[in-house]
Amino acid sequence: MKTLLTGGAGYIGSHTAVAMLDAGHDVAVADNYYNSSPEAIRRVEEITGRKVSLYEADVADRSRMMEILRAEMPDCIIHFAGLKAVGESVAMPVEYYRNNIDTTLTLLECMKELGLTNIVFSSSATVYGEDNIPPFTENMPKGVCTNPYGWTKWMQEQILRDAWFAGAGSEKELSVVLLRYFNPVGAHESGLIGEDPQGIPNNLMPYISQVAVGRRDHLTVFGDDYDTPDGTCRRDYIHVMDLAEGHVRAAEYSLGNRGTEVFNLGTGNPYSVLDMVNAFGKACGHPVKYEIGPRRAGDVQDSWANADKAKEVLGWEAKRGIDEICRDAWKWQSGNPQGYGE
Ligand code: NAD
Ligand code: UDP
Repeated sequence: MKTLLTGGAGYIGSHTAVAMLDAGHDVAVADNYYNSSPEAIRRVEEITGRKVSLYEADVADRSRMMEILRAEMPDCIIHFAGLKAVGESVAMPVEYYRNNIDTTLTLLECMKELGLTNIVFSSSATVYGEDNIPPFTENMPKGVCTNPYGWTKWMQEQILRDAWFAGAGSEKELSVVLLRYFNPVGAHESGLIGEDPQGIPNNLMPYISQVAVGRRDHLTVFGDDYDTPDGTCRRDYIHVMDLAEGHVRAAEYSLGNRGTEVFNLGTGNPYSVLDMVNAFGKACGHPVKYEIGPRRAGDVQDSWANADKAKEVLGWEAKRGIDEICRDAWKWQSGNPQGYGE
């Protein structure tokens, strides 16, 4: 299968590129390096011993994307490109709506013009909103999002579903696979690729990693007064290579099917903030310093998946646990203390 990964130089895209190449598929990548580096793709090639067709491109640029898609004519597009920082989206909503929605609209226009039918989309558990009770199942109603980033995912899901609906039953009916990720963490076990956030990390695992490697003094745990066993929030942390393998299955599934399908990609197992701090301390060989701080606005107490549908339909389930997650995150962070910037 020929795949095109938009945003493929980013964290999840680069790991998916490895999984796709390892599964014997071809990979092209279109990325504008807004939040990534071509070095990630060089390392993907080093890990797999295979070539990637790499294009510097803004996925919202229609003529550039027509050129790339015409050259590649992929069997499946996996659409990762997007802005993803929740806090930044509150400060820059227009940029978030413009970039995230434009990239999806541009791809749909190009696909229609070229007769391409298959697209897998990076959605998020954030679309379940605040009021659903975990474990989240795909048929729960989508909720009210707490920030513009979440709304862009919510809206992109709707746009993709509507685009499929318009052509349902036709010869060129789309195959749309919406993947709702839970909390992607960890790194490829080689330690050559991993998450490389710019500036101060917003997310828990890169923050813990940077404390462990000495780049930051301590982690602030956002609240220990939640109604959970240790008082800290619980999440479904999924190893990024498990997530990457989920994309391989989703893309393969899309080839033989038409319609819109939604899958949770999670483990089904919740862990607290302190569970992750302790597991990381074990992996890196010294305790990770932390202090308890106030709650973070907008945080939900609990979020984890019911991952049965992906198992039943895609034959996929997460295989790696938090010890492997922390081991691999530490290998990446300790081998690349400044990320790709070194
Ligand atoms: P990332 O920032 O590492 O990767 C996104 C990539 O898209 C980057 O390489 C960036 O340069 C590129 N990009 C952004 N706008 C572009 C544009 N207009 N044209 C071309 N390239 C563009 O993020 P990630 O963690 O790998 O996330 C990938 C996708 O998964 C995103 O859509 C994100 O919203 C979604 N997602 C991520 C998480 C998470 O926790 N990491 C959770 C749920 C969903
Ligand atoms: N968290 C924390 N300190 C940090 C970053 C995150 O205590 O510096 C907590 C956060 O409150 C949440 C969990 O870690 O309970 C996961 O946060 P992250 O931002 O990684 O993911 P999300 O909240 O989007 O699920």
